[in-house]
Amino acid sequence: MLPLIFFSNNAHKAAEVQAILGQEVLAYTRLLGRVEVIENGDSFEENAHLKAQALYPLLADKMQDFCVLAEDSGLCVEALNGYPGIYSARFASIQADAKAIMAGNFTPPTLSASDTENNHKLLACLDALTLSESVACFVCVVALCGRVRGRTFQQSFRGECLGKIIKAPLKPNTFGYDPLFIPQGYSQTIDTLKEKNQISHRFLALQQAQEFLKTFKGQERMD
Ligand code: IMP
Repeated sequence: MLPLIFFSNNAHKAAEVQAILGQEVLAYTRLLGRVEVIENGDSFEENAHLKAQALYPLLADKMQDFCVLAEDSGLCVEALNGYPGIYSARFASIQADAKAIMAGNFTPPTLSASDTENNHKLLACLDALTLSESVACFVCVVALCGRVRGRTFQQSFRGECLGKIIKAPLKPNTFGYDPLFIPQGYSQTIDTLKEKNQISHRFLALQQAQEFLKTFKGQERMD
């Protein structure tokens, strides 16, 4: 089986990726020291590729066949014109109010913030816009960068989960914006849904990635 090396320092993401793929996914830190990537891309796609490309050359000397799996994800809120988007992990570090954020009038944040801080910032933005909810969409882009019998590949796959954010109490030990997000067709926040991993943005992106790998490896066997 092709070893999958996952680039992330986020334990929630790693657990979901492992559960969705149903196969062992190796944290890169088991093979290498910590790698820091400056996520200065303008899209989820660019940032996911930046992460995968940072890791690939560090592993290419150590392994024959392997695949780096990186992902960039976030929450796009309609009332904020799609923000926090690629800045989801750093949202609370944005030094601007809701109106300025909507207008894209802020300096891109570099410091990450805790999930609780980010959720408070989002709730404060809803308050400032006198809204009790907004249409929103979770986005996940999975980037693959790997090699199978000397043939290299680099691809990305996007998954989106539409729904809305609401004003709700925050809970300990939940992932990111989950306690504020209700997927379309449901009445509960996604942190309480046992089927999250069958409907999520991460599931939809990984499903395509898994299909791509199956086909790529299959073509290899026919050569
Ligand atoms: P990244 O590490 O730059 O990709 O940032 C992802 C951020 O988006 C996380 O820190 C969360 O705030 C948010 N996020 C992404 N996926 C999810 C999810 O499935 N649930 C909740 N929050 C998420």
